[in-house]
Amino acid sequence: MRRGWPTVFILAAVTATSGAFARESAIAPAPKKGTAAAAAPRPSRRPATLPALSIGSPTDGKLEGAVLLENSKEIRLRHANGAHYGLPGLVGLLERSAKRLAARFPGLTLHVGDLSRREGGELPGHKSHESGRDADVAFLFVGPDGESVAPAEFLTVVDNGVALENRNYRFDDARNWALVEAWVSDPGSRVEHIFVADQIRRRLLAYARSKGTYLPVLHRAAMAMKQPSAGQVHDDHFHVRISCPAGQRRICVPAPTRAEPARVKSVAATTPVSIRRTIPASRALVKPKKERETTRR
Ligand SMILES: [Zn+2]
Repeated sequence: MRRGWPTVFILAAVTATSGAFARESAIAPAPKKGTAAAAAPRPSRRPATLPALSIGSPTDGKLEGAVLLENSKEIRLRHANGAHYGLPGLVGLLERSAKRLAARFPGLTLHVGDLSRREGGELPGHKSHESGRDADVAFLFVGPDGESVAPAEFLTVVDNGVALENRNYRFDDARNWALVEAWVSDPGSRVEHIFVADQIRRRLLAYARSKGTYLPVLHRAAMAMKQPSAGQVHDDHFHVRISCPAGQRRICVPAPTRAEPARVKSVAATTPVSIRRTIPASRALVKPKKERETTRR
């Protein structure tokens, strides 16, 4: 327990899992040493019936029961050995949106960067991505012929909409808006934020307005898209974050806002909610989390 997770969480998890283990062991006794059954790969210690848990915040959290996002016809992972675990809601969102876009724009693949590590926690190169709710996704570009292109890396968009690293590639408003629209109108997951640079947000909303987009969808997108107030401006990728899963409001919390001092952030992540409400920030004795050297969210 790297950061001393609240006792209440640990007790709840232990109680839930030990009950299930007791039931499993009553049905299937442990295999004898040297038998084929003993040599078989050990099943996950976590019963599949337990829901995936997003514990803590995206900037100071962890993850249980994560699912793995994999390469597919519509999804291309940026790193072979990257952090590709997330809540089922996040992985589902990415898969559904990728399918929706590929159906509309043949040949299009979604280029996905990091999600979270299997158990969550700190992820080098990121300030968040700790609790299975965050994913980085490349912008969508077209080549000189107007067809989808699949750059190997995230490309930076400059003011006129071309890629800084390859002037033949153009940020495509139709494809990128279709992606944002798919996310904010997804039937299975609720998107909390889409971190993206102001200039990208402006051009996508202008495009959506020009196409007569259904106003509630436009409004949802306008609320979700924002440039982070600190760190990377996100001019080379979207960073999508889903809301806490239903029923996990006690253990899954929002990322602290910039206005909250670091020491309050640290207390919030290590204290049960019921106790947290009673501790004035001025009396918080937990030292602030060490500032990280990274800039990405
Ligand atoms: Zn990110």
